[in-house]
Amino acid sequence: MVRKSARLIAAGITKTASHSQDNAYELAARQAKEIEDLKKKLKKKHKDLNKEKKLRSRQVEEERRCLDEAGNQIRETLAAYEFKEAVIEGSNVLRGLKQRAVEIMKRQLQEEVSKNGESFGWQVCQICYFEFSGALEHTPRILSCGHTYCFDCLATLCKNSTVQCPFCRTVTNFTNGVPENLAVLELCE
Ligand SMILES: [Zn+2]
Ligand SMILES: [Zn+2]
Repeated sequence: MVRKSARLIAAGITKTASHSQDNAYELAARQAKEIEDLKKKLKKKHKDLNKEKKLRSRQVEEERRCLDEAGNQIRETLAAYEFKEAVIEGSNVLRGLKQRAVEIMKRQLQEEVSKNGESFGWQVCQICYFEFSGALEHTPRILSCGHTYCFDCLATLCKNSTVQCPFCRTVTNFTNGVPENLAVLELCE
């Protein structure tokens, strides 16, 4: 009886011991699994973070590219603007030079006229003998033959939108108007 109970007790201890050993294994296994899960989570986080970093750097790259493009456009616009300014300045210089040349020619002409006492033939309309000027009726108009008369005379000679030159008989069509003889006009004004 005593023996039996002693054996039973011994068996109980062994059982308890092996039971607590089992518990320890289980705990260790659970902890190992938890650690494994944490590692997995961490790995995923890393991956996500890397993905986001790549996306961000792509965005930054794109933004930089856009900025560069905008910068280039601004530079191009500026260059075009500067070129335009230079052209305008150039044409202003040319206009100034031309104006000075016309002034000099006018002065020489006036000197010649005051010496001769009368105007040159090309300064007056060869039909009415009025001097050409900027006043509409006296503006010099050049015909397709190259001869120049005043607006008023050509208006009088005009028939069915055409004028026959009184000097060389060439017929000029009036439909689009007759251009001013600017060279004569500039010196007569
Ligand atoms: Zn005339
Ligand atoms: Zn003519």
